[in-house]
Amino acid sequence: MKKDKAVVVFSGGQDSTTCLLWALKEFKEVATVTFDYGQRHYEEINCAKDIAKELEVSFHLLDMTFMNQLSPNALTHHDMEVEDGVDGELPSTFVPGRNHLFLSFAAVYAHSIGAKHIVTGVCETDYSGYPDCRDQFVKSLNVTLNLAMDQQFVIHTPLMWLNKAETWELADQLNALSFVRERTLTCYHGVRGDGCGECPSCKLRMQGLKQYENQKERREE
Ligand code: ZN
Repeated sequence: MKKDKAVVVFSGGQDSTTCLLWALKEFKEVATVTFDYGQRHYEEINCAKDIAKELEVSFHLLDMTFMNQLSPNALTHHDMEVEDGVDGELPSTFVPGRNHLFLSFAAVYAHSIGAKHIVTGVCETDYSGYPDCRDQFVKSLNVTLNLAMDQQFVIHTPLMWLNKAETWELADQLNALSFVRERTLTCYHGVRGDGCGECPSCKLRMQGLKQYENQKERREE
């Protein structure tokens, strides 16, 4: 039997769209919450909105642009270069505590619409040094949120232990590989689908897809 109601933290990217499709299988009713934190491209928000519309789920946009006042980073400060982290440093797109804030706001929203379940695409496997994407943090926050609102929230992290290839595999298992490939936006230059092909995000995404396709071919041989 499907569980009741879930809120999906949704950005219109590959990971959160896969989570949304997963949630649609698991829950009777699904709502999305998307954060406007001054992304490099407003196109991300348009993309999330379009996907929510196509999948016929409610779309709730939260204005979090105040995050710009908290910390400078390449995702929100458009004059900064997007760079990979070198020698164990965090990439220039790092926003400290971002997932912590997003999940906490999502939980308040979930409370307001009577949803017990919260779904997020955070992932420890290639978490690029973001401490608030780790499983231990999410479990700890779950306890904190329950105490904060006297609720029994359940935070679901279907991608927590998956690598990029396995995330594509999950999309495929949900019969949505081409949907995720074509509709989502992960590119730092704001290009949907396979993107610009040049930025770190596009490269990572394509690497994962190629890896999954190769594995699938080998299995079918
Ligand atoms: Zn790109």
